[in-house]
This record gives sequence, C-alpha cells and structure tokens, in this order.
Amino acid sequence: MTDTSRLNPATIAAQAAGAVDPQSGGVVPPLQMATTYLRDAQYQPLRPDNIYLRDQSDIVRVAETVLAQLEGAAEALLFPSGMAAIAAAFRTVPNGGHVLVQSQIYWGTTKWLRDFCTRRGIELREVDASDSAAFAAACADFRPSLVLIETPSNPWLRVTDIEAAAKAVHAAGGLLMVDSTAATPVLQKPLGHGADLVMHSATKGINGHSDVLAGVLATNDANAAIWTDIKVDRHDAGAVIGPFEAWLLVRGMRTLPLRMREMSRNAQAIAEFLTNHPQVEEVLYPGLPSHPAHDLAQRQMNGGFGPLLSFIVKGGAKAALHATGKLALFHRATSLGGVESLVEHRHTIEPHTGIPEGLLRLSVGIEDVEDLKADLRQALEG
Ligand code: PLP
Repeated sequence: MTDTSRLNPATIAAQAAGAVDPQSGGVVPPLQMATTYLRDAQYQPLRPDNIYLRDQSDIVRVAETVLAQLEGAAEALLFPSGMAAIAAAFRTVPNGGHVLVQSQIYWGTTKWLRDFCTRRGIELREVDASDSAAFAAACADFRPSLVLIETPSNPWLRVTDIEAAAKAVHAAGGLLMVDSTAATPVLQKPLGHGADLVMHSATKGINGHSDVLAGVLATNDANAAIWTDIKVDRHDAGAVIGPFEAWLLVRGMRTLPLRMREMSRNAQAIAEFLTNHPQVEEVLYPGLPSHPAHDLAQRQMNGGFGPLLSFIVKGGAKAALHATGKLALFHRATSLGGVESLVEHRHTIEPHTGIPEGLLRLSVGIEDVEDLKADLRQALEG
C-alpha cells in the first residue's frame, strides 16, 4: 500500500489509502473470504503477520488503514459492531473500577453499560457531559478510569466540548473515549482535541449504505496499556469483523467525504425548513444558530454537522406518529448515516428514558433535498 496519510481525506478515501491488488494488477483490493496460512518446509510462516485468520486478514488491515488515516490516528481496530467496540474498551476496566458515561446518549450503550457494570461490580456514574462544569466536577469527585462521551449525541444532538472533557478526565487520572458516530472521521476528529480513544458504529455513516454491521476504535497512542489490552482481547476472545464486511467498508468509504458533505447540506436545509414550519415545536440540529452549542460545534466540527437531526412535532405522540405514517420517501426504520433518509419515533422504542413523545429523529440521506422537504411538508400538513 502507498503511504497516503499526508493527503487530504477525499483522496485517502477515494483511493482506499493506496490499496490495490499487486497480484492481478486490479485497482480493487482482493477479498479472501476465509483461509488459514501456509508455512514453508522449515516450518516458517510465509508471512509472519499471517498465521491464523482470526485477527489476521489483509482486507481488514486495508479498512483499518483507511480509517486510521481519515481519523488522523496512529492505529484503528475494526470490530463486528459498534457495540462490540464499546464492549472491548470497557472490558479492560477491572472489577470494582469506576467508569463515567454521558447521560441521554444512544440507549443501547447506556443499557449495556448498566448491565455490564452491575455484573462486574464496577461503579457507573451517568452525567450530562454537555454541561462542562458539572462534568468536570463529577470527574474530580468520582475519579473514573474510563469515560465515554457521545458528540453529537443520539437522539438529543447535544454537543460536548471534547477538549474541555479531555482536560477534566485527564486531571482525574482517567482516559476519555468519544463516540463520534454521528460525525464520522470526516466531520470531527476527537483525537486532535485530546481524546484517548475514538469510537464509531461503522454501521452508520462510515459504511453509509445500511448493509454492513461494524465498529471501530482508534487511538494516537498505540503503546498505551489500554490499547494493548483491547488488541489482546480482540485476538484472544475473537470479536473480529468478517473479511466481506471489511471489503464492503473499503468500498463504501471511497465516497465517505462526498456523502458527508451532501448529507450535511441536506440536513442543514431540512433543519431550516422545519424551524419555520408551524407544526414544529423545536428543531435540534447543531448547524442551527438557535442550537445552544452552535458556536462550539462550529469550532469542533469541520465541513458540516452531519445527517442526524431531531425535531418535536406539536401535538405529542399522536401527531408525530401520524406524520411518520404519512411520509413516503423517509423510510420508517432505525439506524442512521445511510444514503437513504430514515425517520424514527424514539419514544416508541425507549418510552422510559425521557424522550419527548413528539420527537422524530431523522437521518438525512443524499436524495434531492426538494423531494425530501416536499415529503415532510405533505406529512406534517396531511
Ligand atoms: N453508538 C451510536 C451513537 C449509535 O447510534 C449506535 C447504533 O445505533 C451504536 C453506537 C451501536 O452500534 P452498532 O449498532 O453498530 O452496534
């Protein structure tokens, strides 16, 4: 592979960080679905880095190289899902340890962490990380060894100051992990703001076609004890991504910067359209000047504010579900970051977590924005 790490993201992505197939001369890296690896007559491996497939696959390495270069990271590791990546990081915390997590983030993360910490005797504290002062006070008081924040958060679109969070966590002797799923490495680079680990559900914008489940962790300190533990755990416990999923990711990521730019542009236009709609109570999108952390988002993100947007329909659950039922272009489905637009009524999925009953979460795709606006207009007015 050519070293493309000094190039700009669109070039790194389009050329898959220089990956080609040297054997066939193909411009697409080959996919070996599964294999074991040969040793020679002296019983030496033909390639010392390829002994057994579990975490030794060339196409997985290609995908990890693209991700590391886009993220500006020293190393990236792929996992079979975003949750597997989160679990790999938290499994490094010893029984009896302290961990802190941002409140009101992706419900699957909160639920798994609560169960995991109860089982392992780990103390868990949940705080609103978008309130920097409350977050810093919680870190100083509780001294967590690992902290997870999610920015922008799903589905509240809260934005947390990563640099301030990293300082507070480091002052308390801990490590900061940022779930940057909604932004992807194109719009936000948490490691550059002082985070120790960045995590993504690559199922979302990174793959971008709703046809792969994958997760990523990346770091700037490949010698850190936590990184070694995560790597050993992935190798020994075997939570690895399949080669075909990695190959699809490499293909999907070729258009990642292009997709993020278009989705952000569409989401911004839809946020502005909804802000002015009489049936809409509130729009949550960091690209709007009315968002409480708009200035911070402008400093911390680059090139747009991503595809995720929530808005509250006047009239509560009934009105929100009525509008959802009328949408013809937005698919009624969970997930985010794919090229096709999705709509979700999160209160139906997680009724006990404080999500407003009238809240609809959109993942804005790359369709023509006028078609999307017309669809929303007829649904809200129908
Ligand atoms: N983090 C965020 C912000 C998510 O939205 C999701 C999934 O919706 C995850 C993590 C979990 O990722 P996965 O579904 O790939 O396990």
